[in-house]
Amino acid sequence: MRFHFHPGYVAPLPAGHRFPMSKYETTRDALVAAGIVPVAPEEAPRDLLLTAHAPAYVDAVLASAVDPAIERRIGFAVTPEVSRRSRLSVGGTFAAALHALAHGFAANVAGGSHHAMPDGGAGYCVLNDLAITAAGLLRAGRVQRVLILDLDVHQGDGTAACLAGVAGAFPFSIHAERNFPARKVQGWRDIGLPDGTDDARYLETLSDALPGCFAEARPDLVLVQAGVDPHADDRLGRLALSDEGLVARDALVRQACLSAGVPCAATLGGGYDPDVRRLGLRHARSLLTLAGLPAPAMP
Ligand SMILES: [Zn+2]
Repeated sequence: MRFHFHPGYVAPLPAGHRFPMSKYETTRDALVAAGIVPVAPEEAPRDLLLTAHAPAYVDAVLASAVDPAIERRIGFAVTPEVSRRSRLSVGGTFAAALHALAHGFAANVAGGSHHAMPDGGAGYCVLNDLAITAAGLLRAGRVQRVLILDLDVHQGDGTAACLAGVAGAFPFSIHAERNFPARKVQGWRDIGLPDGTDDARYLETLSDALPGCFAEARPDLVLVQAGVDPHADDRLGRLALSDEGLVARDALVRQACLSAGVPCAATLGGGYDPDVRRLGLRHARSLLTLAGLPAPAMP
């Protein structure tokens, strides 16, 4: 059971920025309180980033010289700290996947940057750690088939775009249909839910879909994007899951991986509750549930 965290996951943003950067620390704090000692990953090397992104974009990120038009789509400037954070985040997801292949489960307390496209970031995502990890492991022959279960409330458009035509990659996304991104990029399986979908409807839909996904994809590895933005209180979500519903979601996914005997690496994903302590606890509960550990109660 390994959780990856690096202090460099938190990069300074302009004062009052809407992105809740401190949630990585509050999630780490909640995991530490639950007895987890996170391990620090290393920055992903350039050649790994090239498995999912165009060389020109990778070099611009590494040099902190990203086109301002792309930075506007991302939602913040790619400063040297943001560039390092993005590489560390990819390193954390890749390391989690390697650890999961050897030991069954691992998590990255960051990542799930599913809006990053082959030639540019978007929606607070700079480098697509999920697509890079899937494509990198497939290229290296470490796995033959990877299922990406994207549970974030927003569709995994960047992951679908980065993995289009990559044999052995199966990107699945369950999301709010009317939410960002306006233009979806179709993955292997997409389930668009109506606004206001509640626990019962969500869990029924997911539990109906998972057996077929595992039977058809026959994955050697599952990468989970465990965004908690389907929560009813989320600022950017349009669904109505409760805290218990999110834990039930993650328990469903864990059980599906266990039943199929497939290792699982989890990433943090989106979450925009204005109360970052509460948000960190929600993310921690999600990762702990995916790990099969007890989730601390919400206050
Ligand atoms: Zn999201």
